[in-house]
Order: sequence, then C-alpha cells, then structure tokens
Amino acid sequence: MPDPGLVLILNCGSSSLKFAALDPTNGEEHLSGQADALESSVATLKWRYRGENNLLQLSPNDDFRSVIEGLVERMDGPWSTLKTQLLAIGHRVVHGGEHFANSVLIDQQVLTAIRSCCELAPLHNPAALQGIQAALLAFPQLPQVAVFDTAFHQDMPDYAYLYALPYKLYREHHIRRYGMHGSSHRYIAERSAELLGKPSSEINVISAHLGNGASIAAIKGGHSVDTSMGLTPLEGLVMGSRCGDLDPGLLLHLGEALDYSFTKLEQLLNRESGLLGLSELSNDCRELEEAMENGHSGARLALEVFSYRLAKYIAAYTIPLHRVNALVFTGGIGENSTWVRQKTTNWLSALGYQLSQEQNESTRFGIEGRISKASTPEILVIPTREDWVIARDAAQLASGAR
Ligand code: ADP
Repeated sequence: MPDPGLVLILNCGSSSLKFAALDPTNGEEHLSGQADALESSVATLKWRYRGENNLLQLSPNDDFRSVIEGLVERMDGPWSTLKTQLLAIGHRVVHGGEHFANSVLIDQQVLTAIRSCCELAPLHNPAALQGIQAALLAFPQLPQVAVFDTAFHQDMPDYAYLYALPYKLYREHHIRRYGMHGSSHRYIAERSAELLGKPSSEINVISAHLGNGASIAAIKGGHSVDTSMGLTPLEGLVMGSRCGDLDPGLLLHLGEALDYSFTKLEQLLNRESGLLGLSELSNDCRELEEAMENGHSGARLALEVFSYRLAKYIAAYTIPLHRVNALVFTGGIGENSTWVRQKTTNWLSALGYQLSQEQNESTRFGIEGRISKASTPEILVIPTREDWVIARDAAQLASGAR
C-alpha cells in the first residue's frame, strides 16, 4: 500500500493550465482549478478548495511558470495541508509518439523524447514541456510522471494505424495514426470490466468519448485495437468545432479553387466546423438540443450528422472486436445527452442494440449505469475520470521510485 497522499495533476494546454490534487486511492478531489487565457490581458485563475470557489485576475505577464509558482506559494500558506500530503506530480502530455506505451517517471531522456514529439503536437507538447520544467523547479523533491494521451493506443496493429500513403512517410517522418483520449478510454475499459464483473482481459468494449473533442476506441481484452483520431485530433467523429473525417481531396480543392491558405484551413477545420459549422449556431451540444426543441433546423441537422457518423463508427468497430461486451458512452455529451444516445442506438438496431428509455433518461449528470433493455447488448454510461488515471499512474510509479 502506498502512503496515504495526494497527486498534483498538471494539464498545460496552449494557453491554459488545469490543475487538481487528487487522492489516487479513491479519486477524491481536494483541489481543482484552472488558469485561462494566459499571457493575455484577460488572464484569470479559478480554483476550488475545501468547497470554496475563488477567482483571481492574472497579469498578462503570467505564464505556466508563474502560475505554478503561485500554487507553491499558496501551498506554503493557506493550502499548507495539501503540500505535506503531495506524493507526486502527474503531467498530462498529449503526444508521446511511438516512444511511450505507458506512463513514465520523468528524467532527461523522457524530456528529450517528449521534445522530439513537438512536431507531431505543435500546440500541446511545447506547453506540456513548459509545465514540466516549471514543476521540476517548483517541486524538486517530488517524483514527476508523464501520462500520455497517445500511450493507450500504442497497442494498435499496423493495419489499423497506417495511412495508405507512401510507407516512407511513416518510416522517415512517423506519419501514422496515434489516437488521443487514451487515459479516458483506458478508464472506460477498466471500469466497464468492474461493472460487468469480469477481468478486463476478458471483455471487449467500444468506448465513445464524446466531449468538445470526440473519439471512439475499440478495446479488446484491455488493449486498444483501433481508434478514430489519427496523427492529429482532427480525424474521426464530428466534434464541437472540428470536422472529423473528410475527403482529403477537399483540402486540395479549397487550396486550389478557393485559394485557402494553411492558416485559413487550420482555422476552418479546427475551429469553424463540426457542430458549430453545421448548425451555424453553437459548438455546444446542450445549447443545440435546446435550439432543436425550439425548431432550429441547423441545430437538428448538426446533431443528426453527429449521431449518424458516430453510429457508423460503432458498427465498424464491431469488426476488430468480433464480440462486443459493452458499448460505453462517456464525455460531456456521452454522459448527458439522452437525444444523441437514443439517435445513435436507433441507427444500430440491426446489431441488436436497444435503449431502455427510462434508463436513458435517468442515467445522466454523473450517474453511471446500464441504459440498454434487458437481454439486449450492454450499453453503459460511465462518467470518465482521466484525472484519476493520471493520479493512479503517478502514485504507482512514485511508490516504485522511493
Ligand atoms: P471537453 O472535451 O472540453 O472536456 P466535455 O467532456 O466537458 O468537453 O463535454 C462538453 C460537451 O458536453 C458540450 O457539447 C456540452 O454541451 C455537452 N453537455 C454537457 N452537459 C450536457 C447536457 N446536459 N446535455 C447535452 N449535452 C451536454
């Protein structure tokens, strides 16, 4: 048994830093917070500690380092009980390339490998590195662990991860499908096994993580054998403002016929597409459902496309699994949207999936459980806990390091 203690989780995005202190044994959150719009005039820091919410304006000079230093200062003052309990720092790192199939204790070699993946995740990995460097300075006495979004999908077979492009691009530039949301899909696989009362090595799960970003994974005996995100998080499902799968020829057309620049394409595909682009209203599922109820045809269309595309992926992922023990919905949309769950499973009736309307309605807002009719294929809703996966990995690796 590791000593009782907490893991501080740091998740550095391009201009935000999320943090939380978690008990790895039960997932209990002791502190959570977020710095947003860093290095801008509207930068803020929000946190929740002992049930109290706080908000602070930051200076435009504040960066990852000063925010992390601010956390340390608070731990020397009002949060001092937290500091004495910290046993490790867990960093969420988006891209581990082919270097990491598991979480690792951070050392110089690991930092070099994360740096070498910056080309694959130019917005995210440099931010994670800055956060790690700042945390190494701020908490020199604590073991620091990197947990990669891509790691869980490193088990995928080559026929699932290769693009049908000249092989040289893979050999020389590591261009392949990597997948993301690994910590979430891994949690779903483990938790499904607990709910079904079987070891995860004996069950096959389709995990649909539907948040602002969305991806789906086929998980066979605890191993990811296919997933919908690719080299970047753009591939696959329709997302809040990302397009998901496209005809790649369309990009050539936009460039050649309509003179789109790379900058404009980046903006279009990542920020103006998906639910937002189709609905011409919002990237937010809840808002779209409300608008649809009030007759907004764009909102309905966006949600229809979202659910249809999701259903096609679910059907396709029965192929690598042969036998599916559970289809699981997670992420903000998966955990809450009765409409998307209903619509998606309607498309899947040929595969036997049937929702219990009553269970579908009652299993939302953080509630976990089965939403399928009795004696039909299992459909589960499981609130995801990526933060807990990070905390568990960090605590486990830290206990080995002591
Ligand atoms: P992120 O990828 O940013 O972590 P989340 O997992 O928090 O995203 O999911 C955000 C999405 O979940 C949004 O589209 C939001 O509208 C949707 N969502 C949250 N609650 C509900 C709800 N009650 N009904 C429908 N959609 C919801």
